[in-house]
Amino acid sequence: MRSTAVVAGGAGFIGYAFVSRLLNEGFHVIIVDNLATGTHRNVNDLLQEDYCEFVEHDVCESLAISGPVDYVVNLACPASPVDFSRIPVEIMRVCSEGTYNLLELALHKRADFLQASTSEIYGDPEVHPQHEDYTGNVNIAGPRAVYDEGKRYAETLIHTYHREFDMPMHIARIFNTYGPRMRPDDGRVVSNFCVQALTGQPLTLYGDGEQTRSFCYVDDLVEGLFRLMTSELAGPFNMGNSVETSVKELADKVIELSGSSSEIEHRPLLHPDDPKRRRPALDRVREALGYEPTTDLTTGLTQTLEWFRQVVSEQ
Ligand code: NAD
Ligand code: UDP
Repeated sequence: MRSTAVVAGGAGFIGYAFVSRLLNEGFHVIIVDNLATGTHRNVNDLLQEDYCEFVEHDVCESLAISGPVDYVVNLACPASPVDFSRIPVEIMRVCSEGTYNLLELALHKRADFLQASTSEIYGDPEVHPQHEDYTGNVNIAGPRAVYDEGKRYAETLIHTYHREFDMPMHIARIFNTYGPRMRPDDGRVVSNFCVQALTGQPLTLYGDGEQTRSFCYVDDLVEGLFRLMTSELAGPFNMGNSVETSVKELADKVIELSGSSSEIEHRPLLHPDDPKRRRPALDRVREALGYEPTTDLTTGLTQTLEWFRQVVSEQ
């Protein structure tokens, strides 16, 4: 008997890769997405496969799905810092009302719940690397808080359903993930730098470029998410790559790998509370799930540049 997964946010960047994996593993997948930041292209490509359906729906409204459901996966949420100021209320609503509606669906169907949480729940961390027990440093009044606090609220709500109703839950705290199918105008650093390098525009480096992130290739993340979803473990588990890179080093690497003659242009930080350092502690997830990313930055960026070359040539 085929397992059925409802994947909210399945039309997005990670959604495309995760739904592809589920279909390859023999799942029946029902994508629920309002295409706020997801794409018709992703949906159309996924619908070429058997056992894939698409429901265009805003998860802030309650949803009814017919038939049995074994897993509810919550990837629905705009994730680019550009969106934190562009659509702040929508972000708070999808994290709160959207997560509530998806939890109610899972409860009704007696399904497992997988949540795409985030390293942003640690805010601008005072502890390095970030371990799952660290409770974070979020500026609740800052512009990033709509996302950070929204995701924190979502985790708490999921824990509550787990305690109150014994709902099987799985929480992944995802660190910066990149790869093919990112949107060229998404606004996050990897997509910006790749498109800028390929079109000969200056790479926009915010702040002094010394801030760090740990960039994870999407296939490595999907492996972790799949292992977690099909396990009996609740987490939360950090998921990402533990190799830390400064944003300046990333800019240099994108220029080198793309063979671009673009220069680097310094710009002010988008938000004052831009995290200064970020790296996941992976010991817990390694031990529990055998999770170990295998794609290095050069390999991952090469694949990503390939994708953006195609996108840019179509524009
Ligand atoms: P994305 O913007 O490509 O995907 C988000 C998807 O959610 C889109 O398809 C969008 O249309 C959909 N969506 C948004 N609001 C919705 C709503 N109200 N109803 C239905 N669908 C809605 O971003 P992504 O990078 O693929 O992120 C997927 C998930 O992973 C998000 O929850 C994000 O917070 C989380 N995450 C991503 C990263 C990362 O580095 N990519 C890091 C941490 C957490
Ligand atoms: N950044 C940058 N140039 C850009 C976009 C982002 O220098 O064009 C920086 C940003 O200030 C942050 C880092 O790159 O320090 C990662 O930003 P991103 O938006 O990808 O995600 P974040 O980790 O901040 O959520």
